[in-house]
Amino acid sequence: MKPVNKALFPSIVEKFQFDGQFVGLLPYGSGHINDTYSVIFQMDEHINRYILQRINTDVFCNPVELMENVVGVTRYLHSAITKAGGDPKRETLNLIPTVDGSYYYVDEQGGYWRAYLFIENTVTLQRARNKADFYESARSFGRFQLLLADYPAETLHETIPLFHNTPNRILQFQEALQADKKGRADKVRKEIDFVLEREEFTHVLVDLQAQGKLPLRVTHNDTKLNNVLIDAGTGLGICVIDLDTVMPGLSLNDFGDSIRFGASTAAEDEPDLSKVNFDLDLFEAYTQGYLEVAGKVLTDAEIDNLPVGAKMLTLECGIRFLTDYLAGDIYFKTAHPNQNLDRARTQFKLVQDMEEKWDAMFDIVKKHRNK
Ligand code: ADP
Ligand code: MG
Ligand code: MG
Repeated sequence: MKPVNKALFPSIVEKFQFDGQFVGLLPYGSGHINDTYSVIFQMDEHINRYILQRINTDVFCNPVELMENVVGVTRYLHSAITKAGGDPKRETLNLIPTVDGSYYYVDEQGGYWRAYLFIENTVTLQRARNKADFYESARSFGRFQLLLADYPAETLHETIPLFHNTPNRILQFQEALQADKKGRADKVRKEIDFVLEREEFTHVLVDLQAQGKLPLRVTHNDTKLNNVLIDAGTGLGICVIDLDTVMPGLSLNDFGDSIRFGASTAAEDEPDLSKVNFDLDLFEAYTQGYLEVAGKVLTDAEIDNLPVGAKMLTLECGIRFLTDYLAGDIYFKTAHPNQNLDRARTQFKLVQDMEEKWDAMFDIVKKHRNK
């Protein structure tokens, strides 16, 4: 992506239906994907704030389909929240139309811009301060699933095809292994075997889906804590944001990815594996929050397979890191030569730890279902 040309700002800002007198614009937040700004307008004594974002079209090569997904889902959420007696200006993203009545504007450099109402008095957390934050994110992602339970998920675009098709990730891994472009395979035989031993497991969810046993859902696909706005005063989860990767998929993908990232005791690239553990307390906090809110719309098969989702997404992510290591670090950004290997190893350590705690994971699901 070219850096944003600041000279274009006045012409970009005037393309959106913002209310009031333009006051200023500042870079905002610590998102890593898009270019995000807050835009301030004044109307009498009121300040109106908006979020203005340039979509990262290096990462998302189909911004039009992406925006169609965002429009569909935010519209639906707006009406579902209104029906449920909530505050639709705070509990979902609200797109601001352009003066032409579109939901995005393409600048003269080909940059895709969109704008949202700014949701005030919230914080974005990079890491949970405590178990309660993680539990709150579970309730928010659970509510996202609950409110969208009747959305026709098949009408959404699959903007990243086969994103969580784990057997396909194995195929890509095998290709990278065969090619062994950087001659790294010999150094990581243990990790390679770890993946190959679990090849059969990688089919479990896609098979259940093919047999019609797991429903197609609206999935978020980036269910990290930093994509939930938390109320600055109460600490409650308010709104799920960052809808760029919304696609049709399995609820277990979203659940699993939250656990993979949030229930680990260490960073994703921690080189000291003795620090990397799967934290059952955090797993329980998330499972409890998620089931309290989404439990009534999830099928028995979905609930039964929550631990499988957690392990699948962790294994899949480890496979992707190891694949990229073998291919020469072409997909994930790295700051040092072994970073993708370190990342793969943390994921495999978590998988192993989940396998050791497998029965306890199912007991936790049992404890919190049907409440
Ligand atoms: P990225 O994909 O780059 O992470 P996000 O859509 O998550 O982009 O936005 C980046 C940050 O901007 C978020 O982490 C959040 O702090 C802030 N943000 C995004 N949308 C809003 C909003 N509507 N109201 C308030 N803050 C927001
Ligand atoms: Mg984000
Ligand atoms: Mg994002």
